[in-house]
Amino acid sequence: MMLHRPPVHDTTDAPRPAVAWEDTPCLLCGRDQSALLLEAPDPLPPAGSGLRFAVVRCEHCGLTYTNPRPSPRTIARFYPSDYAPHRRPRKLAQARRSRPLWSRLFGRPCGERRGDLPWPGPGRLLDFGCGGGAFLKRMADRGWTVTGLDSADETGRAVQEELGLKVLTGTLPHPDLPPCSFDVVTMWHSLEHVHRPLTVVREAFKLLVPGGKLVVATPNIESLPFYWFGASWFGLDLPRHLTHFTPTTLRTTLETAGFRVGRVQLLRHSDWLRSSAKLAVRQRTGGLASRLLTWKPAAKAVAWGCYAARMSDCMLAVAERP
Ligand SMILES: [Zn+2]
Repeated sequence: MMLHRPPVHDTTDAPRPAVAWEDTPCLLCGRDQSALLLEAPDPLPPAGSGLRFAVVRCEHCGLTYTNPRPSPRTIARFYPSDYAPHRRPRKLAQARRSRPLWSRLFGRPCGERRGDLPWPGPGRLLDFGCGGGAFLKRMADRGWTVTGLDSADETGRAVQEELGLKVLTGTLPHPDLPPCSFDVVTMWHSLEHVHRPLTVVREAFKLLVPGGKLVVATPNIESLPFYWFGASWFGLDLPRHLTHFTPTTLRTTLETAGFRVGRVQLLRHSDWLRSSAKLAVRQRTGGLASRLLTWKPAAKAVAWGCYAARMSDCMLAVAERP
């Protein structure tokens, strides 16, 4: 079988800071046979990084991942300073208040389920990829003993200073986190950003007490929105998203690390659908249907349809350390 290694195309003439690129074998099974699934640009406005990135699928286990990819040392160049997940809690709260009343009453995007952790009463929580700290703050207010971990140290410092919460810089494994020191570890849309997801999940296993829970939310590439929008699907977010999970590959990743996995739950996410539609319009890959889906009520209705068909583009897994 031919090994496909598609190039990363630079479509700009402007000088850029040096990015180191790396090729990787499959992040789940370690084999090195993959086929190109698609190429897509960096979607961040106004024109992203000007590069196009390749997404490949492992021919052995089916895992889909970005390859080649920026090295761990240089990928920070693709995170702009105003990257939304790194925004401060105050700004997030303002954004929530500005949502229209009907949306606040009837909308329940997946982010707002984050308070419901599978643990009886307040415990010890590690939030991996804590970003601006909004979730940490909410759980601390509910009596949890919280620790945040994020690779962006400026964001972590701001969360520590503004909210007085413990935030460490780096990834897993981390020298300041002893084994069996947490009841729950959460990864809200962070596992798809890491270079070695299996290592991170194995380390989370060690950090949990027996019976402890790992909660993981990621985009789902095996979804109707991905089939519709392809390279303009919001959940790709290249090159920041390095692994593109399906319910099956997410489950296999967690089980390979030793976890017992319950049902992988699909979540409706009309905001993502709208974002994909807007991106398709901007990139001129979408037609009338995309224009229609930029309209919030239409996106909400279609997100319900995807959910009913069990083909939503956002998913949540709860895994237990036996
Ligand atoms: Zn594989």
